[in-house]
Amino acid sequence: MRHSPSPSASSAATVVYPWEYVAMRRRAAALSQEALAKAMSFYNEPHTYLTHIRCLETVGLRFRDVVNLSRAMPFSIDVYRQLADLPPHQHPRLCAICGWDERTDQSDHNGDLTTWSRKLPAICTRCEQAALAPAARI
Ligand SMILES: [Zn+2]
Repeated sequence: MRHSPSPSASSAATVVYPWEYVAMRRRAAALSQEALAKAMSFYNEPHTYLTHIRCLETVGLRFRDVVNLSRAMPFSIDVYRQLADLPPHQHPRLCAICGWDERTDQSDHNGDLTTWSRKLPAICTRCEQAALAPAARI
């Protein structure tokens, strides 16, 4: 399924590259590369996933085959493919901090589904809540 570019996404929006998207999603899930590899390692050794994750986060590298990281964290392979394959004006709208997109379910810090911040439209409600009360978040 292809995600449509959001009409509210500004052409001046920062371009998110596929390697940045993987790292943003991983950091939003509070996982190190090693912890993500371990969470993914049901069938294979964590080392296999760790190598793949490190490659996915290497600046300038785009991959055709990407392991389904959504098994361990909120992540969309469709978004990855669009960032890797399409020009920036066709990229989906992503939270500028965590890389969340509106078709990926993710709870915010209040236990509700994440949506776009009304005050800061470049970020999601989860990141807005973290910014407003950083001391209360882990
Ligand atoms: Zn966010």
